[in-house]
Amino acid sequence: MNKNLLYLFLLVVSGCTEGEKKSPSVLFAGEIVNPMNEYVVLFKDDVKLDSAKLDKTNHFSFELDSISEGLYHFNHAREYQYIYLEQGDSIQIRLNTIDFDESLVFSGSGADINNFLLDIFLANEEEESLIRSTYFELKPEEFHQQIETLRKDKLKALAQLNVETPLSIKAKNLAEVSINYTYYNYKEIYPFEHRNRTGKRIGNKVPSNFYAYRKSINFNNKNLNYLTPYYNFVKSHLKNISYNGCEQKCGVVDETITNQLHFNRHKLSLIDSLVQEDELKDNLFRNVAFEYLLRGRDTEQNNETFIQDFYLRSGNNRHISEINELYEGITNMQPKKKIPNVMVTDVSGKKVSLQDIAKGKKVAFYFWSGSNQRYFKDVIERTAFLSATKENYTFVGINYRTDESTWKGMIARAKLDTENQFKADDFEELAKALTIYQRNKCIITKDAEIVDGFTTLWAANL
Ligand SMILES: [Zn+2]
Repeated sequence: MNKNLLYLFLLVVSGCTEGEKKSPSVLFAGEIVNPMNEYVVLFKDDVKLDSAKLDKTNHFSFELDSISEGLYHFNHAREYQYIYLEQGDSIQIRLNTIDFDESLVFSGSGADINNFLLDIFLANEEEESLIRSTYFELKPEEFHQQIETLRKDKLKALAQLNVETPLSIKAKNLAEVSINYTYYNYKEIYPFEHRNRTGKRIGNKVPSNFYAYRKSINFNNKNLNYLTPYYNFVKSHLKNISYNGCEQKCGVVDETITNQLHFNRHKLSLIDSLVQEDELKDNLFRNVAFEYLLRGRDTEQNNETFIQDFYLRSGNNRHISEINELYEGITNMQPKKKIPNVMVTDVSGKKVSLQDIAKGKKVAFYFWSGSNQRYFKDVIERTAFLSATKENYTFVGINYRTDESTWKGMIARAKLDTENQFKADDFEELAKALTIYQRNKCIITKDAEIVDGFTTLWAANL
């Protein structure tokens, strides 16, 4: 470290200790190693607050005046991570995009709670595979014990941290809630996971204290709405009690939900009666709409019944235009309708419409991006296999979000027929029109009419 830098460093450190913490502004800065693009973007909930451009040494800096304390998140390219900010914080991060979460380190004032939350997040990633591979098979009593042990260990670590470096009440509560709901979520999904693995139904045969936390679930705390462990928990909880409710009162055949329309309407009514907080309610309603509509397996008439019910309950939902677009897209992708006439570009640079590509033959459209080499390899293998057995099909690849030379290079190296390869000009538009929310989506058409708008290259009907 050169002398000037050291001097500056000491100045900053001493500045912090002499009451700088009381300043209302927040500094959030850091370094991105191996950046994917030039920006770091900061969000509060689903609102973009600010973005910072990386300098020549890949450093960025946000100076925020008088922000409210709480949970924020920042993203870089497609990765994101939480950051908890309080007035006066001066937080530095360093992260390497090759190992995003694992490489992330916080330093400076306000770093302790953030490093703790990150540790919990990383510990949970490891525990999750253990829970999925082993714990879910355990009987309810044993499962309960194991989960409670994990939860209490984390709470102990938090208490320890709070002794070493006292946290603000808000920060401590947030950490506590993150821990608790992470483990409560496992309890809510346990009956389904246990049955999938052992074939045994749990129903209500759990120890009396298994769901003890249910008495004090908070459905009315705005600060929790965008906290992933909490939101995941609420979704699982609603699924669990909707399922149980339907099983007891409405009749469920063979322990599976056969009537998706009924089940999802039942869920809507539960959300309506349980959840008070407006934004949480809107987000949960949206989640049900997306889950139900995106399955794409119900009739047009049932979809209509669902959306009418949705409008009655949540017509002024903050996501209503997005839901309307999805509903419209799903309606347009029903069998016997013409494939939406989106324009794409062929390898010679000519614009062609999907209907022209699909005219007079059977086509299976698939979608791929240059950023996912492994998926591209899977697709090439699968379409080569299918082409040999399904000679009456033309397999048409639509590429997205890849620069032109990379796209053409990948096609050439894979020796794909350039006649059947196209590039989406505007992927957002294409994704909306064709309701592409999963990358492995495949659309089957016959003479430009949709046969199946919601399948995959790996589905049995191909
Ligand atoms: Zn029901």
